[in-house]
Amino acid sequence: MKIFLVFLEQREGIVKKASIDTWNLVQELAALYPDTSVSALLAGPADIRQLDGVLAGQGVVYHANEEAYRLCNPQHYTRLIADTMKRVGATTLFFADTALSRDLAPRLSVRLQASLLSGCTVDEAWWNGGACQRPIYSGAAIASFAPCCPLKIYTIIPHATRSFSSATTSGSRITFETLEPSLHTSEELFPQVRCIAMHKGVRDVAEATIVVAGGRGMGSAEGFALLEELARLLGGAVGASRPVVDEGWRPHAEQIGQTGKTVAPALYLACAISGTPQHLAAIGSAGTIVAINRDPHAPIFDVADYGIVGDVHLVLPKLIEELQEFLKKR
Ligand SMILES: Cc1cc2nc3c(=O)[nH]c(=O)nc-3n(C[C@H](O)[C@H](O)[C@H](O)COP(=O)(O)OP(=O)(O)OC[C@H]3O[C@@H](n4cnc5c(N)ncnc54)[C@H](O)[C@@H]3O)c2cc1C
Repeated sequence: MKIFLVFLEQREGIVKKASIDTWNLVQELAALYPDTSVSALLAGPADIRQLDGVLAGQGVVYHANEEAYRLCNPQHYTRLIADTMKRVGATTLFFADTALSRDLAPRLSVRLQASLLSGCTVDEAWWNGGACQRPIYSGAAIASFAPCCPLKIYTIIPHATRSFSSATTSGSRITFETLEPSLHTSEELFPQVRCIAMHKGVRDVAEATIVVAGGRGMGSAEGFALLEELARLLGGAVGASRPVVDEGWRPHAEQIGQTGKTVAPALYLACAISGTPQHLAAIGSAGTIVAINRDPHAPIFDVADYGIVGDVHLVLPKLIEELQEFLKKR
């Protein structure tokens, strides 16, 4: 009997879509093998009703519903996950590939003496034998890796395989079990982690369905006011290329690309972004791409569905004005 454990990452009590997609993907893999079951671990206070109708398949979600796990202390999360692996007899652990899992997975790999395959993409062919595929050189080539230890840990690139928005969740049979308060007392955990910067109400660019992203050509931090307004009107999130983050115009949490986040919005608006491979590597799953650039030969136009050749400082105010008019009439 193989047991897969999926780690469900929450922030402010909201389970990340990337984790839900990972669960649904693992369910599909498990369905290929009759002797495989899937469980999940959710750490920290969260309303489990948010998982109704979004988790496909069947399995148990173990919930460590302790205040002490609200924020991630890597040492204690590592211990909790390792304990849960042992408790359920899991042989394989799956994470969505996020900043958090990039911290936790190597710790767990050492602690459990497990093979770690990070940044994987997944399909059914992939699963045969537990090998994984991983895009390298900014997605220009695909490398295959095989695990060598009996215990395996995978981090799955969100959106890299396919979208599970239409995953079959009807008829799913998920049960929830609250984990007993662990050995690690709340008092022991509390003082060690604190949140120093979290902008409430700001959409995570990795989860947004509309992303308005700006590049170096926006010119300054102030230039992003236009993108913020556009994102507000569209109900989307602001994203940025790496030079923008390096300049300190926008926070790293908004960086899209090889060393930032992978996104899969229905609409991706690339403003004054040239479209280098390191940026494009992270927008391959976007639905419609609209690019605004004053250089008609910018590589972003090679991947864009719609392109506007022009200066963002002229085009964006017009776009905002039109959108405001449009929204007024609705
Ligand atoms: C290991 C490594 C990892 C990297 N990771 C990332 C990553 O995660 N994300 C990322 O984005 N990059 C990453 N990069 C950097 C990447 O190679 C590019 O340098 C970067 O993507 C370029 O950003 P940009 O398009 O904003 O800037 P530029 O390449 O400078 O492009 C600016 C564009 O704006 C246009 N423009 C200028 N002014 C205007 C205007 N007024 N109106 C309209 N258009 C205008 C220009 O024509 C140009 O096309 C990485 C590089 C390396 C080596």
